[in-house]
Amino acid sequence: MAPLPPAASPSAAANDDLECPHCGAPVVQWRCDGCGATFPRVLGVPFLGAFEPADALGLIEIVANAPNRGSLRLEPDTVARLDALCASYHAAPDKEAFRAAHAETQAWWFGHRYAEWRAVETLLEGLDIAGAAVLDIGAGQGFDAWRLALRGARVTALEFSPIVAEAGAQSFPELRWIGGFAHALPFRNASFDHVFINAALHHMRDLPATIAEALRVLRPGGCLITSGDPFRADTTGPALEFDVFDRHEAVLLGINEQIPPLSDFLLTIERNRAVLAPEIFTQVLHGGRSGSGPALEEWTAWDLDADAPMLKARAGSLAMRIRLTAPWPHPRALQREGVLPPATFVGWLRDPARAVAEIARIIPRAMLDTPSQARPRSSISSTAGASRDPPRRRAPPTGVRACSAAAAPSPDCDSRRAATSPRGSRCSSTPCLPARPRSAPTGPRSRPTSPPCRQASPSCSSSSGRGSRRISTPAASRSGCRLRAPRWAPG
Ligand SMILES: [Zn+2]
Repeated sequence: MAPLPPAASPSAAANDDLECPHCGAPVVQWRCDGCGATFPRVLGVPFLGAFEPADALGLIEIVANAPNRGSLRLEPDTVARLDALCASYHAAPDKEAFRAAHAETQAWWFGHRYAEWRAVETLLEGLDIAGAAVLDIGAGQGFDAWRLALRGARVTALEFSPIVAEAGAQSFPELRWIGGFAHALPFRNASFDHVFINAALHHMRDLPATIAEALRVLRPGGCLITSGDPFRADTTGPALEFDVFDRHEAVLLGINEQIPPLSDFLLTIERNRAVLAPEIFTQVLHGGRSGSGPALEEWTAWDLDADAPMLKARAGSLAMRIRLTAPWPHPRALQREGVLPPATFVGWLRDPARAVAEIARIIPRAMLDTPSQARPRSSISSTAGASRDPPRRRAPPTGVRACSAAAAPSPDCDSRRAATSPRGSRCSSTPCLPARPRSAPTGPRSRPTSPPCRQASPSCSSSSGRGSRRISTPAASRSGCRLRAPRWAPG
């Protein structure tokens, strides 16, 4: 049966919920009533905002992935078909017999799709989203947005990569597509009944700000739903990310990835408990509750107050359902450093060398020549692409089950094959089985998490665009561009 189109959205049709991310004034007919900024369509999708210096790495990824532009579209029936397959598999009393009878369930990617389907099903339990206005942040090519639309939600898909948003809008034109940034959403307060972020949050370069913005655009009573995000112990540092990603082929090829400390996910929530009813889950918890046991791979609910200290000393994969119980009490975030209009950037994509040269002009100094453990003062500070040693000549560390060019991928890892999944290049971030630390991490009982696989494919993620990404150097997020960055437009 062909999927039914989602109900028309009056709000989406009128676009009366849009706000200028530069000054916060209403946007009418794609023009800001306050500062006069205009927001033209970019590759067919209206884009509200401008790229900032700290987006440099994400921009380079988009350039690197631009040659895949023609292959990013999803088949519209893929979502319904895969969700139905997962539901049938879930209901099957004899899983082995079901797998034997359905070839697709034997594919390498099926385990991920099933885990993701279960997470979404669990997180949506008890929520009636039919007719609800739902925002999907980091929508990628629209897989989750369409999944929600098939349940009757009126979905707005927000995506920061123009080429990925283009593919999404072509695949699912029934959805409302907006180009923009998660840390300064182009929407009025309380515009949405629910906000959904699947496997995207960990890509953002400012998690607390992204979560605050997601909660700001929620109506009281609505939920922020997140899933599929790897996290590391607060006691570990970026060195752990180097350890993990140094064995991750796609990251070494330039995909921007990170494993944020758990506190980055929880900070905004803990500071605003008065207006929030949070539910916290792990999809994987390395070391289990004790920290020294086997990985807890069952979906597990935790009490934020009682369990947060323990969880902050672990690594794993996170899901959350945060209900807003009263109006969000904080003002909106604004884009203060927008220097590069998306339309200008898209114009460079035909000439990658020029695009990279132009991007280099706006890279913040804080991201350059920062010390790394391997080559002091010689590497760009980034979890992506900066390597301690030439990656391909190193033997894999004993016991590591990470996806890697050198080591055999773990059975659950599909980073190298993401492009062949019918899920498309959307990040799912289902982590591999736990990797053992090669050297002792900085904190007691901490365990490194394995690479969040699958988002890291040549056609995927960073350039599939989850909104702006955090740069791993804390200074990078605090400081603006200290170079004399060219300003292509008022920002
Ligand atoms: Zn404005």
